[in-house]
Amino acid sequence: MSAPLIYFDNNATTALDPAVVEAMLPYLTSFYGNPSSAYSFGSRVGRALETAREQVAALVGCEPDELIFTGSGSEGNNTALNSALLADRDRRHVVTSSVEHSATKNFCDRLARRGFEVTWLPVDSAGLLDLDELRAAVRDDTAVVSLMWANNETGVLFPVEEAARIARAKGAHFHTDAVQAVGKIPIALGDSAVHFLSLAGHKLHAPKGVGALYVHRRARFTPFVIGGGQENARRGGTENVASIVALGKAAELAATHLREEQTVVRPLRDRFEQGILSQISDTEINGDPTERLPNTTNLFFRGVEGEALLVLLDKAGVCASAGSACTAGSIHPSHVLTAMGFSAERARASLRFSFSRFNTIEEVDRVLPILTSAVAKLRAMLSSTVAA
Ligand SMILES: *Cc1c(COP(=O)(O)O)cnc(C)c1O
Repeated sequence: MSAPLIYFDNNATTALDPAVVEAMLPYLTSFYGNPSSAYSFGSRVGRALETAREQVAALVGCEPDELIFTGSGSEGNNTALNSALLADRDRRHVVTSSVEHSATKNFCDRLARRGFEVTWLPVDSAGLLDLDELRAAVRDDTAVVSLMWANNETGVLFPVEEAARIARAKGAHFHTDAVQAVGKIPIALGDSAVHFLSLAGHKLHAPKGVGALYVHRRARFTPFVIGGGQENARRGGTENVASIVALGKAAELAATHLREEQTVVRPLRDRFEQGILSQISDTEINGDPTERLPNTTNLFFRGVEGEALLVLLDKAGVCASAGSACTAGSIHPSHVLTAMGFSAERARASLRFSFSRFNTIEEVDRVLPILTSAVAKLRAMLSSTVAA
């Protein structure tokens, strides 16, 4: 019998909470009506969407009608940037950071090729953003500033509230990719200066392929997906009802478990991290150790090929991530770690471990010796190659 799976890759996606599955199932079986239909079999489904909207609104502290359900976090990011650029055609400048998720990064790359001007703000060696650099970058023709709330590779947090005020003072829109932050740290949009915020279900124990975009009630908004009058005519396409119900339930559960991110998940992460730093020589944390999500650690194992380490972990049933994309056989080092000033070599020798409330101390204690011997094995191979 193979070893039970140990899943330490919760920033890639998460397991569905069983209560979430239970909540969504009736909308895959009994209640298949179209939420836009006028008869009661449809309107009952429509009401389920509104309950979900209230549940998500409660988690991020906004009004339910400020939320548009989307098909993903990526769609939210694309929609927000697109809308901000259409609000004032004279503003053709975009400010973002050099460590954004590909859903923002590649969209902005494309904007640059289409003649928009993009400023990529740097981060320091801890992955932190300098607000003075942001102040200097925002101009009178800046359409939108897009900065992630929490980095998916390192967990490092950006000072989003202050950044939003800086953008707003110049009349620019402010968008935050909060896909990794929602459900892990408290978010209260209330009277914040944020215009747009994206979130995704599958990072908080709801299914893949569903998300939400917060649009401040006074922000100008232009739809990205044009279709029927769904979502108050802000996003065409019949809603993914079962997944939206699931997202609502997951948001409600995230709110009740929010404190545990600090009292349960953080201690797991810290135990794991301290275990590695004390038991394995030549290891370091990538990213600021305090200004960071409670569930994420990104660790440098000097002299180790991260991809090889992942293979050994996989053989032992342990899921983690290199935080780098494999394209056509060539492994590109993480753009996040290189933006922090680390060499390609260090980036390739780094792995991300990300935890959730479904992980246990027993799992942490089971993985530590597996990791220790895998690193020792790879380092021994390296030194014998060097010797030969
Ligand atoms: C996962 C992730 C996304 C993309 O969300 P999808 O729903 O997979 O499109 C965007 N931003 C961050 C920070 C993420 O971690």
